[in-house]
Amino acid sequence: MFPGAAHRVIRMATHDTYADIGVIGGSGFYSFLDDVTEVTVETPYGSPSDSLFVGEIAGRRVAFLPRHGRGHSLPPHRINYRANLWALRSLGVRQILGPCAVGGLDEEYGPGTLVVPDQLVDRTKSRAQTYFDGERRADGVVPRVVHVTFADPYCPDGRRVAVKAARGRGWEPVDGGTMVVIEGPRFSTRAESRWHRAAGWSVVGMTGHPEAVLARELGLCYTSLALVTDLDAGAETGEGVSHTEVLRVFGENVERLREVLFDAVGALPATVDRDCLCTHAHDGWNLGIELP
Ligand SMILES: [Zn+2]
Repeated sequence: MFPGAAHRVIRMATHDTYADIGVIGGSGFYSFLDDVTEVTVETPYGSPSDSLFVGEIAGRRVAFLPRHGRGHSLPPHRINYRANLWALRSLGVRQILGPCAVGGLDEEYGPGTLVVPDQLVDRTKSRAQTYFDGERRADGVVPRVVHVTFADPYCPDGRRVAVKAARGRGWEPVDGGTMVVIEGPRFSTRAESRWHRAAGWSVVGMTGHPEAVLARELGLCYTSLALVTDLDAGAETGEGVSHTEVLRVFGENVERLREVLFDAVGALPATVDRDCLCTHAHDGWNLGIELP
């Protein structure tokens, strides 16, 4: 149980556990909220990283999910991304903010820079990244094969809200840029890092994919808020990236990132008012499965 979480564990979704906004990030983003309900959700894809923690911010119902599980026990390649997104949607979530730590590939994007990327490159290797693979699920349901449009991987409305929220806190973000997502859990070699940089990509992370595409497959709006914690290996002359340094810089910025996130939560459009490309992800497709 996190500090601040109400001592109520609910094993299935009820009206009280409704949330229409999801935040996938660490416990630093909600552990201080007064009234948080812990909800355990099971999905056809197994268990999410942890319980979901539902609370209220700026009059909006928000479900928080610790991406790496409590105590940071799951490395990026072992996160059950399908279960995470499915579980959020099953509570009512339709818009997601995904804060994450990244390495900067450009010297201008030093530690403490906030990037709201508009493009993504997938260099992961072993992750289930679709619900629509035509394979029979454990519950006997067979999803159809579906190819969603992903030219613009992030929600344009969510991005606008995130950029505005950061500016409102005096934290000028990088509006746009490409996040390359690597398999991890190791950091890049210098050669890999130089290659990513030469390709013109902005930041490198380990969790942004398949989180974004699975959100799109479920018709959810997804916005990434990438906090640069280090200059990636090829962009610096020192010893390379260390986990200790990443944690230190993240810790230094977690409070203002939380402020930006909470402002963004309050500024996201009402679910019924959404009219972005994310809401049209399923146009023309027969999914073969019922979404939660
Ligand atoms: Zn959207």
